[in-house]
Amino acid sequence: MIYTGRFAPSPTGPLHFGSLLAAMASYLDARSQHGRWLLRIEDLDKFRERPGAADHIIHILSAYGFEWDGEIVYQTTRLPAYQAALQQLAQQQLSYPCTCTRKQLIAAVAPGPFGRLYPGYCRHNVSTPTDEQRHAIRLKVTAQDIGFTDRTQGFYRQNLAEALGDFIILRSDKVFAYQLAVVVDDEWQQISHVVRGADLLDNTPRQLYLQQVLGYRQPEYLHIPMANNAQGQKLSKQTHATALTTADALTNLCAALRFLGHATPEATAWTEPREFWDWAITQWDSAKIPRTIARPVQT
Ligand SMILES: [Zn+2]
Repeated sequence: MIYTGRFAPSPTGPLHFGSLLAAMASYLDARSQHGRWLLRIEDLDKFRERPGAADHIIHILSAYGFEWDGEIVYQTTRLPAYQAALQQLAQQQLSYPCTCTRKQLIAAVAPGPFGRLYPGYCRHNVSTPTDEQRHAIRLKVTAQDIGFTDRTQGFYRQNLAEALGDFIILRSDKVFAYQLAVVVDDEWQQISHVVRGADLLDNTPRQLYLQQVLGYRQPEYLHIPMANNAQGQKLSKQTHATALTTADALTNLCAALRFLGHATPEATAWTEPREFWDWAITQWDSAKIPRTIARPVQT
């Protein structure tokens, strides 16, 4: 199987330094192994999408010298594939409709480290809600540890029944859940290596479980440390991380590579991103990435 990596941003805001790190790490890991690198826009959640964000992300990646293979895939063009996976799980009797409201669940259970544990209220419902009746679809989980060895973070395990309970694969607003879509697309695009931010580390056991029950292959995983701001908060749209501009491409690329543990000259060492990448691909060593969940950005 040829190395195939990907960068899969959600267009919920402009590209910021934290997302540049994930793009860079996945790109360098793929290119240093003569692999393919795909770009996928995860645009299923139209409520959270910001107009123009997808175009901004693509524009910045291109200006920063990233070269992706093939066409950009937009998840909104992939709905029949997610629907087919949903049907497969229903046929395997692994899923069921859940009519619980958010209000009911908030009243019933306290939030845990991974969100609110679903108490399984609808697991044994005999009546099926009609299409008009608002409901989500949940996946039945088992009380077994699901573990994997992350290339940077080491061994990680989760017991889905204890951590989350049966989780949502189709939201009550009829949007396919991130967990389902990402697993279906990783299989379809034959992704062999997933390199992304450590904020998704605790999502991985759900994705491994989905791969198992759907009969998919399991990629290798590498979760890079999250970038924190001076207040110790993760750089994100919520913490108002600054949007990257094209003007300081080389400066930001150098800062990103340093954050990922690689000694890097000043930006003036290169005249354009292409030269930077030619050098960086020869330097990349994933073992140099700091083995931590989060670290501050040096500015
Ligand atoms: Zn329910």
